[in-house]
Amino acid sequence: MQSSIYEKTIEALAEGGIESPRLEARLLIADALGVDVNQMPITPMGDDNVQETLERHIEKRLEGMPIDKILGHREFYKNDFFVSRDVLSPRPDTEILVEEALKIIEANGSKRVLDLGVGSGCILLSLLAEVKDLEGVGVDASSKALAVAQKNAKKLKLTKRVKLLEKNWFDNGFVGVFEKPFDIIVSNPPYIKTADIEKLDIGVKKYDPILALDGGEDGLDSYRKIAEFAPFLLFDDGYLLLEVGRRQSRAVKEIFTDKGLVHLGTVKDLAGIERVLIFKK
Ligand code: GLN
Repeated sequence: MQSSIYEKTIEALAEGGIESPRLEARLLIADALGVDVNQMPITPMGDDNVQETLERHIEKRLEGMPIDKILGHREFYKNDFFVSRDVLSPRPDTEILVEEALKIIEANGSKRVLDLGVGSGCILLSLLAEVKDLEGVGVDASSKALAVAQKNAKKLKLTKRVKLLEKNWFDNGFVGVFEKPFDIIVSNPPYIKTADIEKLDIGVKKYDPILALDGGEDGLDSYRKIAEFAPFLLFDDGYLLLEVGRRQSRAVKEIFTDKGLVHLGTVKDLAGIERVLIFKK
């Protein structure tokens, strides 16, 4: 008996060293069939087009392309986000930043939030989706990333409460772009040391944009820059929440406390790494 599409896909993925071949086979087949993964037939059948799409998917996966970049979307916090090679794929670690920001927003009745390096929009849009009277501004130096964020805003019906701006925080006059200060600033800036980028997994170094990864020689360039202007973009008593990389929390804390911000806390991720720093003006 000829083996099914499902079995063949699992086999191809397993042979290629994919860790969860069953799950990924289901996701890739459902996508090729154009159906929801939960509504996939037990014995999926496909015409030549489906076969061809599936083969392309498998080929990309075996070349190291992350599954979300193949499918074009990914779950983050409580929603599904479009992703592409123009944005950093949302990571589970970053959900911690969202959770901490929500606690602060809810406790303080914050109304205006700024996301520096908005990318896919996963942080900013997750906050706006949870808090109905919150307004957000998302900044990114990449127009292509902003196009993805805009698509996500539309999908989540949040376009009325979000403004997306193409700006680079390293440019002079960056602060002057904003009409009013913010109650809270969130950011997951690029924080990988330039020399470490080549050591990252292929799925990251080849398929996530370098702009979202490269933090300069010591990985801290964006933090130093943000620390220069963040106090001017916050209302008094405003909050700043930052994601940081492995072993960066102490240095980043110092960069921001040197500029007069008060360190309120540090939150670890699921792996026990200090991942989110919380400051108050
Ligand atoms: N978390 C990403 C990684 O280590 C890096 C993201 C960033 O630089 N902000 O793959």
